[in-house]
Amino acid sequence: MHYKIIQILLLCFIILNCSKTEDKTIQLSQEFLVDSLKATNTSFEEWFSKVDDQISVDDDYYFEKDIYQIVDNVYVAIGYGLANSILIVGDGSNIVIDVTESDVLAAEIRERFEEISDQPIEAIFYTHSHVDHWRGAFPFVDENTEVYAHETFKKGFYDQNNLLKPILTERGMKQFGFFLPKELQRGHGLGFTLDFDFEQPPVVYPTVLLEGKKNILTIAGVTLEVVHSPGETDDQIIIYYKDKEIVFSGDNYYMRFPNLYTIRGTSYRDTYKWYKSVDEMRAYNPTYLVSSHGPFLSNKKEVQDRLTIYRDAIQYVHDYAIRGANKGKTPDELVEEFEYPKFFKENFDLREQYGKVSWSIRNVYNGYLGFFDGKAVNLEPLSTKVRSKNIFKIIGSKDNLLTLINEALENKEFQWAAELCQIGAINFPNDNEIKNLYSLSLEELSKEETNPIARNYYLSEAYEINEQIIPDLTFNLTEDQIRQIPIETIFEAMPPRLNPVKANNKFITVGFNMSDTGEKFGIIIRNNIAEIVDYIPENAEIIVTVETSTWKGLIMGITDAKSAITSGKLSVSGNYLKFIQFSTMFEKD
Ligand SMILES: [Zn+2]
Repeated sequence: MHYKIIQILLLCFIILNCSKTEDKTIQLSQEFLVDSLKATNTSFEEWFSKVDDQISVDDDYYFEKDIYQIVDNVYVAIGYGLANSILIVGDGSNIVIDVTESDVLAAEIRERFEEISDQPIEAIFYTHSHVDHWRGAFPFVDENTEVYAHETFKKGFYDQNNLLKPILTERGMKQFGFFLPKELQRGHGLGFTLDFDFEQPPVVYPTVLLEGKKNILTIAGVTLEVVHSPGETDDQIIIYYKDKEIVFSGDNYYMRFPNLYTIRGTSYRDTYKWYKSVDEMRAYNPTYLVSSHGPFLSNKKEVQDRLTIYRDAIQYVHDYAIRGANKGKTPDELVEEFEYPKFFKENFDLREQYGKVSWSIRNVYNGYLGFFDGKAVNLEPLSTKVRSKNIFKIIGSKDNLLTLINEALENKEFQWAAELCQIGAINFPNDNEIKNLYSLSLEELSKEETNPIARNYYLSEAYEINEQIIPDLTFNLTEDQIRQIPIETIFEAMPPRLNPVKANNKFITVGFNMSDTGEKFGIIIRNNIAEIVDYIPENAEIIVTVETSTWKGLIMGITDAKSAITSGKLSVSGNYLKFIQFSTMFEKD
């Protein structure tokens, strides 16, 4: 342990000295960096036992905020936000890959980039649709900037920012410990900062959606191979800069066990495709590997070795789950019986500091076989509520339950304590003693937990249960901020917001004329659902003529219907009363 502290101090000393030099970029030897990082991981067990103080020490160092030079014309901003932002200086103009989650940070990064080159930015690439890669774009946009992403970005963007925004925001904030008191915010594995607020910066939607597997683009004299490589997301791209032997990995590689499943909730992250995508990066045999999170690598052998380990680990988990599933094992059994192969324990990049093996096993099972574990008893399991009531009957009384909870806490069986508290909370929803014990059990779990995002999640929920924190998840939006979101995305977001009770027995057909673009849409309410079409339905009993931005504002709950009508931005022909009825059927976020 002493040796480790000395190493970290030595490293900090070197970094601090480097940052005092005239040169605005740090030319830190990556081999040295990587070796030192490895040395801090002398053994998996030791790492786990010391993780509580390691999280802050490691992340403070690991994401030292600065601009790092990779080759003569390529730089990466690390440690500003959750994700990195990368600059390629081209001939007459520049290219930026990923833009962080915050326009404030992006503005700060742009200022630093301008010290290197003040040429206009001709292209921005979003490696995928997670907010930490596109949300901060605005300060990077110049007059003629094109914004590139893969065509599958459209679905990723829609799912996260419309369809599932309320729940992903709620769970995401727990994962990142966003509402925790500052002194308890200890990072989240991929970086120390999540610079997020509920003031939405202007959305900069891609102007070019690339199609197919591979696109070769030459921008400002820089030729890039842009490859669709599903992994952490289905819309992920990796970028190969052949002339400089650089692969930009997006989030398909970072120096953490990959988040094959994320606890804030995600559609299936296809584990098979992910390791195949890592193979695509290996095939380029690059000298440099620049991830969108954390440090970069600059040695052919090191890159090759680490990518190989990474893909092997993903394949190992994938194959393990499949092998076990085929023998009839349930996800619980697969998690319970998993044994870490030796190479997992030895490799720095496989530390479960972001993703976790247990979640990944469940993810693979669920991705291939769905929720049902194959046991008849679990076809229609008792709800948590009914089970809790039944178990409470066996326990007999609240006093007995409290005794059991306290015993579990004393025995350090914190998961069991939390489960008993859940039973208590269902039977006595307003009981403060149970709430406090529940909160305490989760807090104890957070102390034992070695994975930062799981720790944040336990702790956030612990603080919410006894109302030490009350998250406010309200977004502040203006029409201007959502101007670039495609109108079809706005329409597609409407059906799940339909209140089926209000729509009961209703049959309403509405046509929409977008007065500024001429686009047409229709919404048909029937059988308690809303069907969206891209034409005006025959026999539409209501025709709405409206400006695109006004309609977006109305749907996002930022424009008032009455003022839209009185200002003439929205007009309705046909059955006006029915339109009023129709417009109250949709819930806001
Ligand atoms: Zn990311």
